[in-house]
Amino acid sequence: MRASPFRRFLDLAWPQRWAIFSGVLLILGATLLMLPSPWILKLLIDEALPQKDVRLMAQLLAVFAGLFLLRAWLTLMRNRLLQFAAMRIVCDLRIQLFTHLQSLSLRYFDSNQTGRTIARIAQDTGEVYNLTNGFLINLIADSVTVVCVLGFLYWIDWRLALAVTAVLPLFVFNYLHHRTRMARESRVHRDNWDQVMGFLNERVGAARVVKSFAQERQEISSFTSGINADFFKFSRVVMRNTKLSVVADVLGSLGALVVLGYGGWQVMQGRMAVGTLVAFNAYITFIFPPIVRFVELTTVFQRANTSLENIFEMLDTKPEVSDAPDATTLPTLRGDVAFREVCFDYDRDPPGNGRPRTLADVSFTIPAGKVVAIVGPSGSGKSTIINLLARFYDVASGAVLVDGRDIRSVTTESLRQQIGIVLQESVLFSGTLEDNIKYGRPSATREEILDAAVAANAHEFITTLPDGYGTVVGERGTKLSGGQRQRLAIARAILKNPRILIFDEATSALDTQSERLIQQAMERLMRGRTSFIIAHRLSTIQQADVILVMEGGRLSEMGSHAELLTRGGLYAHLHALQFKDPV
Ligand code: ATP
Repeated sequence: MRASPFRRFLDLAWPQRWAIFSGVLLILGATLLMLPSPWILKLLIDEALPQKDVRLMAQLLAVFAGLFLLRAWLTLMRNRLLQFAAMRIVCDLRIQLFTHLQSLSLRYFDSNQTGRTIARIAQDTGEVYNLTNGFLINLIADSVTVVCVLGFLYWIDWRLALAVTAVLPLFVFNYLHHRTRMARESRVHRDNWDQVMGFLNERVGAARVVKSFAQERQEISSFTSGINADFFKFSRVVMRNTKLSVVADVLGSLGALVVLGYGGWQVMQGRMAVGTLVAFNAYITFIFPPIVRFVELTTVFQRANTSLENIFEMLDTKPEVSDAPDATTLPTLRGDVAFREVCFDYDRDPPGNGRPRTLADVSFTIPAGKVVAIVGPSGSGKSTIINLLARFYDVASGAVLVDGRDIRSVTTESLRQQIGIVLQESVLFSGTLEDNIKYGRPSATREEILDAAVAANAHEFITTLPDGYGTVVGERGTKLSGGQRQRLAIARAILKNPRILIFDEATSALDTQSERLIQQAMERLMRGRTSFIIAHRLSTIQQADVILVMEGGRLSEMGSHAELLTRGGLYAHLHALQFKDPV
């Protein structure tokens, strides 16, 4: 059985145990320093004032001030220590989450909204900070205070202390009464908030699409619904917390009432000095407010617990594609590629008879250095072939081989280091053009970067920019044209010098000049490498050594342009369609 999220959090906090332990000692010190203050008050009322003893009064006030200053210093030190510990725990957790995220397979990203994932790392960990720095500190400080003060009260007057203790179980009943609903409401609120974050992230990222479809009003309305739902769900959480606190407050006042009633009676009977009653009353203000705070802290705890569940759910997600324990490093490849009866489905449990539908029994062998064009109707499985070749997903059955080795028997890092991918939608990261080109090989020299840019026909446009290679591109490289982005992506791939190249041609029409530049760059890039191109341009298809024709997840034909045309099958049909010359 898996340990509870809180138990697992304690394991995370373990490396900071010394800071936390020292913080707790300081809390203990600060609490003990608090205890004499009401007693000083008693001495002032019962002795210094009636006897008009100025000297005693001055001494008492000096002790009072000394204690106060010392306590302030201890509190400062304690907060420093515990804040440091809390922040360290959160930073380590964020690093752990991001590291784990890097190991997760594409299937995780397919099925989890980006906003939710970001919320795990940015927001849920913030709740862990509150748990450590708010909840734990207060819980420990308040527990120590309550135990010490209660013990002291028993020493002063056990009957009065017993009356105070009798009220305490009511606080526990109050908490237990609300606990389950509080947990449920907190979970419902967090789930809704995650959805809002997911929505926000998507819509901000896709501002261009929203604008081009003139959907601003619709988006505002969807966002407003999400935020309003959050308003109601959060209000429930707040109301639950308020009910809990108000009842706890009333119980606290009840405790004070008991003390004043019983203690006042004792004073009237002459069995207790006025100063003792005043001191007693002051002491119970050390007991009930912390207990009321305990109740409020349960909300912090509940929120943190929900966040911890989210965090551990992510950390427990196993990477679907991971290195086998005996995986070896792939040596420099020649570039032979083979698919052996490969079956695959994005859905791990495909409906129906369980036979994978995305790819079914795909087999082919490509010798090193050949250019392969993959063609076929939309949704026929072209991108899936390259996804499996780069091992973004594992095959359901069959095998993908490079140089005769099953790619599952080698480390994914060594495999992907030898594969260069240029996607249709070339993603550039925020940073300079130079940073983007050397993304796959950060150690590349300036000269190598320039050579790659020249080969990719990117050097010319880069040097016309005022900042040249130092030009900072936006998050998605929005300051560059589609053709320019593609040429940068090609430069990035050239610099990586992969043995196998995967190229997803842009479907959108580029102008002739841009297309020619990209074509030239591609030719240079493909030289001497096994290249797979999801081909849309006729020139690419015709020049390919081998054409794979996909249809409904199956490899329906394979051969050169001329061979396939003569065969008169799907390829000939697609070719004829393109030229409006039905066969
Ligand atoms: P296109 O030319 O339109 O890009 P394609 O031939 O490259 O299409 P694939 O992207 O390989 O086709 O998709 C094959 C099938 O798998 C399609 O039915 C598609 O809906 C499905 N599919 C693709 N990617 C995923 C995914 N990440 N999760 C689930 N299903 C997917």
